[in-house]
Amino acid sequence: MSIAENLLKIKQSLPKNVTLVAVSKTKPEEAILEAYQKGHKVFGENKVQELVDKQEHLPKDIEWHFIGHLQTNKVKYIAPFVHLIHAVDSLKLLKEINKQGAKNERIIKCLLQFHIANEKAKFGLSKEEAFELLQSSEFKAMDHVKIVGVMGMATYTDNEDQIRAEFANLKAYFDEIKEKFINNDDFTENSMGMSADYKIAIEEGSTMIRLGSSIFGIRFKSNFI
Ligand SMILES: *Cc1c(COP(=O)(O)O)cnc(C)c1O
Repeated sequence: MSIAENLLKIKQSLPKNVTLVAVSKTKPEEAILEAYQKGHKVFGENKVQELVDKQEHLPKDIEWHFIGHLQTNKVKYIAPFVHLIHAVDSLKLLKEINKQGAKNERIIKCLLQFHIANEKAKFGLSKEEAFELLQSSEFKAMDHVKIVGVMGMATYTDNEDQIRAEFANLKAYFDEIKEKFINNDDFTENSMGMSADYKIAIEEGSTMIRLGSSIFGIRFKSNFI
């Protein structure tokens, strides 16, 4: 099936409250345009340089989501245009986003990334670290970032019960943060679910899924090299 067919089929199957982020990392601009021409405007990238290049060349009404691990010294390159930063995993990073938000006269939307998987390799905050961040006076003083939700990645496994439990865990963090720290109407997003596990994620309360290979096909080229 073509990119357009994959995209339309997936979109038709999604509940209305779930946003689809089409993860276009490693894929050429023509692939993004094929989806764009079908009316899709929300794309995700995980490398700063690749995102900046694509943003320059592609239509300006695309909503770019940064979904990867973000280094503090690279925030400045995406701060002028990024729509949502999914993977904030330290106060230091959030401070830099706030600083770059101020420079660009914007309020940059962010998600707190939680470490929910049973794998050391994945990034993210523990509940304790996140709560400490949210309680800090430094965070409370920031006025150019807005935390609008949480993000997490489940373990890469075929054990569905485990994946479901990890997503349920993230949803519980979301609920607790909303109750204790960010009780406003903008705190709404639960970014969880990739190609292999998005159906489970939606059942567990996802509002934002990040799909790459199920739309664009498998990635032959790894961009981790
Ligand atoms: C690559 C990536 C995805 C998409 O993965 P697929 O398995 O291709 O759907 C989602 N989230 C993050 C953070 C990624 O790096």
